[in-house]
Amino acid sequence: MFEKLALIGIGLIGSSIARAARLKGLAKTIAISTRRQETLDEARALGLGDTYTMDPIEAVKHADLVILCIPVQSYGAVMEKIGPYLEPGAIISDVGSVKQHVIKAMAPHVPKGVHLIPGHPIAGTEHSGPAAGFPELFINRWCVLTPDKGVPAEAVARLTAFWSALGSNVEILEPAHHDMVLAITSHIPHLVAYNIVGTVADLEQDTQSEVIKFSASGFRDFTRIAASDPVMWRDVFLTNRDAVLEMLGRFLEDLSKLQRMVRVGDGPGMEALFTRTRKVRRSIITAGQETAAADFGRPHGSTQVLEGPSGTAVLDGAPAPVVEVNVEPDRPVREHGGGDDA
Ligand code: NAP
Repeated sequence: MFEKLALIGIGLIGSSIARAARLKGLAKTIAISTRRQETLDEARALGLGDTYTMDPIEAVKHADLVILCIPVQSYGAVMEKIGPYLEPGAIISDVGSVKQHVIKAMAPHVPKGVHLIPGHPIAGTEHSGPAAGFPELFINRWCVLTPDKGVPAEAVARLTAFWSALGSNVEILEPAHHDMVLAITSHIPHLVAYNIVGTVADLEQDTQSEVIKFSASGFRDFTRIAASDPVMWRDVFLTNRDAVLEMLGRFLEDLSKLQRMVRVGDGPGMEALFTRTRKVRRSIITAGQETAAADFGRPHGSTQVLEGPSGTAVLDGAPAPVVEVNVEPDRPVREHGGGDDA
């Protein structure tokens, strides 16, 4: 339990943390800070915190847990402001999708006695803003923490307990390792999706409407991923460039091999590859990171949602029955909607 949790940024991720922390009683006070009045008013109307301010310095005063939930390119400017006001013993963390870059941006502004423990919840949707968040977002998702060696074990344990209480499985990784793994599992898939959807968008009008009309399976999933927040993903590719280029090189080599198989009609080669990839998908389902339901478990029509025993919507992977309830069609009922968890 923290005395005061300060959330700097209250979009999809910040508001999901606020909702879940409130629900689980993880902080006595939740202070919310955001850049624009409009967003602050929305957060207040949703009742996401106890105090609301556009001044991040005000929010972090006396906070024992501060989490940056803003685009990674804005960390430097915000840290420069709040750094001097962080209190000894406090934990400063974040949710950014890259880790080496954010450590470079944050570390110089962290005073002695304050514990820097960067974090990354691997959970998200393609929606943004305070209204997009929901408290179940982190259930059964990984949250990676990348503390420096010098950070006391008790501080790491405290933040681990916080994320575990939000429903996450917590893993400690080296920042460089995190960035490499996420480059291939998340960043390259987004790059591929942006590229495929961009190619279609460049096609003639008629072809586009055919594609939209017949986009029954594969393409539709790419459009979901490619609908992810443009600013966030711009930042990911600007700040994890080396790992992304390294993984993109490997990806292109493999794509060339596949291109050759298609050109020479290498049926057995393709079958062997597709059998291997099918096994990967099954192991992801077995690990509880995806649902085995058809069409990625996406509700059809507007009436199906995964619901837990308590009546609250839960994410796939949790042992809960599928029941029929009314739900607004646009509500992100599960988190594989693109974003960081595509
Ligand atoms: P979001 O819904 O767009 O919310 C962004 C928040 O950051 C808003 O409060 C916004 O304030 C504030 N903000 C935007 N630009 C800013 C700037 N230049 N300076 C200060 N504050 C600024 O974004 P999100 O999806 O929650 O993403 C936030 C962070 O979570 C990112 O670092 C991202 O890498 C990470 N993340 C995202 C996902 C995902 O799937 N979306 C998953 C895991 C981690 P105003 O509205 O007041 O301008």
